[in-house]
Amino acid sequence: MPLALARKYRPKRFDDVAVQSHVSTTLKGAIERGRVAHGYLLCGPRGVGKTTLARVLAMALNCERRGDPALGGEPCGECASCTRIWSGSASLDVVEIDAASNRGVDDARELRERAMYAPSGEDHYKVYIVDEAHMLTREAWNALLKILEEPPPRVVFVFATTEPQRIAQSAAPVLSRLQRFDFKRIGSGDIRQRLVHVLAGEGISAEPEALAAIARAADGSMRDALSLTDQVLSMGDGAVTAERVREALGIVPEDELIALLDLIADRRAADVFPTVARLAEGGVDFGGFLTGFADMLRAQLAVVLGGSAPDVSERARDALDARRDRFAAADLLRMLQAIAELEPRFRKSGQQQLLLETLLVRFALLDRSVDLEEVLRTLGGQSASGSSSSGGGSGGGGTGSGGGGSLPFVRPEPRPARADGSGNRAEPTPAAASAPSAPVARKPSPAAAPVESARPAPSPTAGEPLEVNRLAGRWDALVEHLRAAGKPLLATALEHSSPRAVTAKGDVTIELDEAIDFYARAVTDGASDVLAALREWFPAVQRIQLAPLSDAAATPPKRMTTEMVRAERIASLRKRDPILSAAIDALDLDVAD
Ligand SMILES: [Zn+2]
Repeated sequence: MPLALARKYRPKRFDDVAVQSHVSTTLKGAIERGRVAHGYLLCGPRGVGKTTLARVLAMALNCERRGDPALGGEPCGECASCTRIWSGSASLDVVEIDAASNRGVDDARELRERAMYAPSGEDHYKVYIVDEAHMLTREAWNALLKILEEPPPRVVFVFATTEPQRIAQSAAPVLSRLQRFDFKRIGSGDIRQRLVHVLAGEGISAEPEALAAIARAADGSMRDALSLTDQVLSMGDGAVTAERVREALGIVPEDELIALLDLIADRRAADVFPTVARLAEGGVDFGGFLTGFADMLRAQLAVVLGGSAPDVSERARDALDARRDRFAAADLLRMLQAIAELEPRFRKSGQQQLLLETLLVRFALLDRSVDLEEVLRTLGGQSASGSSSSGGGSGGGGTGSGGGGSLPFVRPEPRPARADGSGNRAEPTPAAASAPSAPVARKPSPAAAPVESARPAPSPTAGEPLEVNRLAGRWDALVEHLRAAGKPLLATALEHSSPRAVTAKGDVTIELDEAIDFYARAVTDGASDVLAALREWFPAVQRIQLAPLSDAAATPPKRMTTEMVRAERIASLRKRDPILSAAIDALDLDVAD
């Protein structure tokens, strides 16, 4: 196999180190002015050019043409010294240490002794590059501190680390003697640009979609991108095509990911299992699959928000544009958040297939956020501006028109007539009708009120005492009832709220889980419906009020209640969905939604 690309195309100049120009510029300037520090700390994710840049620094310091104004602080890259350091062949002036394998105090002592040796020549600098520096022991740092307190002339230490906070814990005094640079994660666009350059150098053509796929898989690491490209090249000759990349890297095609979006939009929960089984048979790496799916959701979110989808092929972009109206931004955000929460556990799990299935079933059963039109209809156009800002993202409405003020309200009449006295299921709103219901949902659970009838069946213990716990226990039934009664927005709003307090006089305070403006209005506007429905169980209810939105996050005592209610919801979810319930048991899952 030919020389690995990462080595062959290792930068010889500061300017060739992708993205980190904020570091390069400072270092070039320091070299030009002869004001190089004795110690540098280079922090950042793996594969973003930390050691590469340290090597370029060593080249620049020892370049035979150092001081040549034409170079502007860059190494020439061609002299004997530059060539020796660049190729990694033995150089007296550059010592590379991998702290992950040399972390004892003995090594630090050795380091100290070796640091005492002068650089190889009058003009030369001795550069120690310590990789994975967070692995050094406290003792090693103490030894280094002594060196840095009285640094020998023309000795430079460069520490590279992915975890600077660990150095801060074990070696704070050393940190103050180092000049710190934070490296950026390398964006997909920069990775693609670099790959184009490298492949052009190899005389190999590549499809843009293929490079995008490699960049995605590299996840911000240029080193990974180049070694993945090596991997693809090693499996055949000719142009780098998307097909070849997918085969070599075991990447799921975009079509497959888009089909999954449709599955979720259609709420075809049962189809999750054959789909995931097919992926498993195809030898797909589920970790990579999850990342790819998150990228696709992110791209769909960008499209829904009116932007253009980053990092996907032209074809996928068209497909996402066509699905613009199938997802609400808030729902995409919730899915992305769920993936982000699952990911760390997922990587380590021995049950990835089950976790993935559970996640996708959850997505397919996710209660959709109400769509904007429905909100406007329900609000009677009374504040279209407030709701449109809320509709665009999650919780963005907190600063909207009515968000800051308190929204308590009082129902004056003691016994209002039932809002929908028909006794039959009220006609569904168009929005409710267009949202297909989940195949396994909506089976009335024993604990919940029957949903077939619009009027909640008076429970056997008609006239339950009014207590927060009991209210919480009925909350799901209340939500179901209102949804069945053709009030989907109110139902969704209540689903995102919980009863917080009751008074002896029969006042019930409802609190939103999040300060979302249009939910608050929905509850306010639907107060009579809520009151009427609750009275069927709790005749003592007199008034309903909404806790001020600003309180929502600030009051610690409500946490107990919220958690309790959440537990109730999970219990009812389990009853409705035996497959999900089994998965929850098997994995001890925390089902937040
Ligand atoms: Zn040189």
